[in-house]
Amino acid sequence: MNQGNKFYKTYDVKKISECHQSIGPKTLTPNSRLDRWSGVHNAISDWMINDADDEVAVKVAEENFQYYDPLQRKIMSELFARFRALVPKPLPQVNIDFFRQEVSKDIDGEQRGMYTSFQYQFQDEDNSEYIKLKAGVSDVEDIDKAIVAETKLEGETFLTAQLINDDFDEIKEPENSKEIIENYFETIREFETNRKQATPGLHCYMCSRPSRCGQYPVVDGQEPKSNFRGILISKSNLMNLGTCERWTSWRAQYAIPKDIEKESFEAELGQKFHTYSQRMLEKNEDIFGKKEIERLKEMLGNEEEKFAIQILKKYEELIQALDTEVENKNDLEIKLSEYGLGFSVVTDGIVSNSKMELRDDKVAVTFMGQADLVGRYKGKGLVIELKTGQESNDDLTEAELYALGAKLLLKEDEVYVFHIYTNKDGGKLKKRKFGESEFDSIIKKFEDKAQTVANWNPNDSLSPSFNVGDWCANCDYQTTCPEYR
Ligand code: SF4
Ligand code: SF4
Repeated sequence: MNQGNKFYKTYDVKKISECHQSIGPKTLTPNSRLDRWSGVHNAISDWMINDADDEVAVKVAEENFQYYDPLQRKIMSELFARFRALVPKPLPQVNIDFFRQEVSKDIDGEQRGMYTSFQYQFQDEDNSEYIKLKAGVSDVEDIDKAIVAETKLEGETFLTAQLINDDFDEIKEPENSKEIIENYFETIREFETNRKQATPGLHCYMCSRPSRCGQYPVVDGQEPKSNFRGILISKSNLMNLGTCERWTSWRAQYAIPKDIEKESFEAELGQKFHTYSQRMLEKNEDIFGKKEIERLKEMLGNEEEKFAIQILKKYEELIQALDTEVENKNDLEIKLSEYGLGFSVVTDGIVSNSKMELRDDKVAVTFMGQADLVGRYKGKGLVIELKTGQESNDDLTEAELYALGAKLLLKEDEVYVFHIYTNKDGGKLKKRKFGESEFDSIIKKFEDKAQTVANWNPNDSLSPSFNVGDWCANCDYQTTCPEYR
């Protein structure tokens, strides 16, 4: 099938490699991160070609930020200042354009290509430097590096200005760039000739069509359209929605950078425990087998001792808790792990177009999470969530999210949700069962949440309400939030 698109951006090819369905009709999904990147890029371009005094050139360039709210203006001003510190004036001869480095190949009689873009070029008589602007946490992808490696000419240098890391460095060339490029051309060939069903995963959080791909069905069966606004609320954002809308919206709608990335032993242990447990349990027909613990010990062979001991203990507690619940082992089947489950709600709200003009229209709000384990229990749907912390009131909301998602996607009439806790109190399984009567009230509850989200002004990060309380101690924005000091 010819998609009519002979050259693919590397960004799109990467998305295709994660999920074929991620390319297709979208919703109008405001992308604050991308909008800010464009604003900063425009300011840099204006500043570079302005020969006036630097103070004046900066001021004129910052006019690009004038339509944004004060918080986003501040973020863009800081990124712009970081660029000027990395690449100070005076500059060599500057060209501002989108410079494409591209590779192409004949695929089944059709010419196909991929390209990566650079925003600025510095030039002297013999040499050219090309600069890629990065304003977020992501690094340059392997496919971009490989294309650079395979196409660069003598006298050309390719650099990245990674603003949040204050890093201005030459792009490193991978050793296997030919192989990387070939693999991505194979991805394009597969996409065009044998387009696959949705393959959900963590990449769903970056996708602009979750309400349209079928993985997160609309509760009343409506078909979201391209002029609906789309917004995605992840499970952790959903939990914060009940305490402070600002916290949730800054993450879900406006992509405000977190103050700090927190890391802890407990978080790392929890993550590792999930990974090993999922490897042990997915598609395992002998979950309670005598040799299973030995199998886990072997798996843990290369793991650091401080983690291995804890993981083993927790896994034994998990199996014990499961064994106590499950009377007939044939009743339990675990088929999938880390599986995207959720649903979408279409409601009335505020929609913005590309000129930042607002109108009242439909908003498709998708609630999603990655369920730890999915399967069947006693002939009904089953979702298992593994918890290494204490029980929480949020667990009910999480169970409702997955139960309704499983009902709609997997066509289950009833769904069990097991929360299995392995914490300092040992192992414990909490079972919930959802059927028709519960689903109606769950839908009502989530319609109310969707209504709240749909009324956030997508152009104004300071419009959602804030609510200072004990939860602020866990918030990602304790420094950025002006009301919490
Ligand atoms: S939301 Fe996930 S499953 Fe759906 S198209 Fe996007 S990446 Fe694929
Ligand atoms: S610090 Fe408190 S009030 Fe401010 S965004 Fe975070 S949770 Fe809300």
